[in-house]
Amino acid sequence: MRPDIMMTRDAATGKVQCLACAHHCRLGEGQAGICGVRRVVHGDLQVPWGEVSGLALDPMEKKPLFHFLPEERVLSFGTLGCNFSCAFCQNWHCSQVGKDPLADARMQPCSAERMIELAKNHNVRAIASTYNEPLVSIEWTAYVLTLAKAEGIHGCLVSNGFFSEEALACLTPLVSAANLDLKCFSDEGYRSLGGRLAPVLAGIRAMHAAGVWIEVTTLVVPGFNDSDSELRQIADFIAGVSPDIPWHVSAYFSTYKMPAEPERTPPERIAAAVERGRQAGLRFVYTGNDCGGVRQEDTLCPQCGQLLIARRGFLVRQKHLDNGRCPRCQHPLPGVFA
Ligand code: SF4
Ligand code: SF4
Repeated sequence: MRPDIMMTRDAATGKVQCLACAHHCRLGEGQAGICGVRRVVHGDLQVPWGEVSGLALDPMEKKPLFHFLPEERVLSFGTLGCNFSCAFCQNWHCSQVGKDPLADARMQPCSAERMIELAKNHNVRAIASTYNEPLVSIEWTAYVLTLAKAEGIHGCLVSNGFFSEEALACLTPLVSAANLDLKCFSDEGYRSLGGRLAPVLAGIRAMHAAGVWIEVTTLVVPGFNDSDSELRQIADFIAGVSPDIPWHVSAYFSTYKMPAEPERTPPERIAAAVERGRQAGLRFVYTGNDCGGVRQEDTLCPQCGQLLIARRGFLVRQKHLDNGRCPRCQHPLPGVFA
C-alpha cells in the first residue's frame, strides 16, 4: 500500500508542512520546498513516485559500504533533487534539478514491483536508494524498501543524513545499512551547504542506536573541512558513537560551482585525515577516489592485523573471512557478512 505523504497541514493558514527532512518546509499553494522537488499543488504535497533517474547493479563497495555484504552487487536507484546545494556536488546534474536550470537529468517510469523482480532475477540481496538524496523521495524509497524487506532483500540508504525525526521513524525499520555523510563539523559549514550540523549528528547516532549498520563518508574539500582540527572533530565524533564505524575519507576534485584551483585534494590532507582517524581510535579508515598515491582500502583484523579483505577501488581482490571472523584469531569483524 502506498504510504502516507510525510506532511501535516496547518488548519488556520492552510499551509502544508513537509516532514521529509529536517528543513520542515512550510509551503503555500504552488510553492516548492528547499529541495525544489516537493511542491504544493491544489492543496496537496506532490512527491516523487513511480520513477527513477537511474537504476543499476552496482558493487556494494561503490556506495561505499565496505563492511556490508562485501563483493556483492546492490540494485541501486535514485530520483531527482536534494535538500542541500553543495557547491562541490559531484552529482549535481541529478541533485540540483528543480533549483539549477542547467541540471538536466530526467526520470523514467519504473514500478517498485519491477525493481523487486529485477533484484530477484539477478540474485541481488540488497536494494539501495542512492544517487540523489533519498529523503526528497522518502515515500517512494520507503515503498520500494518495504516490498524488498517482504522478499528478504536488504534495504540500503546513501544519504546526507539530514533526517527529521519523522524520517528516522519511517526509514530505520526498513534499512539494514546506510552510508551517511558527515561533511564538516561546524554549523556554519553546514549552513553554507544549505543544512545544519545538529540533525546530521543526531541522525548518525539514532541510526546506529537502532542497529542499522552505518558507515560514514567525508569528502575532504580543501579550505572547507580539511584543517587538522575539523578532521579531528569529525573523527572524534564518529569514534564516540562507535570506533567500529568505518570512516571513508574521499578525495575531492573540482566540479560544479567550485573554483578550478585547487583541482583536487592534496594527498597530504588525505593522509592527515587517515592519521586523525587513527588517533581518534577508529579501527577502519578507508580512502576513496583518486587520492594521489595515498591508498588505504584493505581491511585488516583489528585484533591481530591479518589481511581480511583486499580491495582496489570497487573491486574486492581477496577475501579471507571465516563466518565473518578473522580466520587466524577468530576475532569478529564488525559488519554484516552472512
Ligand atoms: S524534503 Fe526537506 S527540503 Fe524538501 S520540501 Fe520536504 S522538508 Fe523541504
Ligand atoms: S548532499 Fe550530496 S547530493 Fe546533495 S548537493 Fe550535497 S553532495 Fe550533492
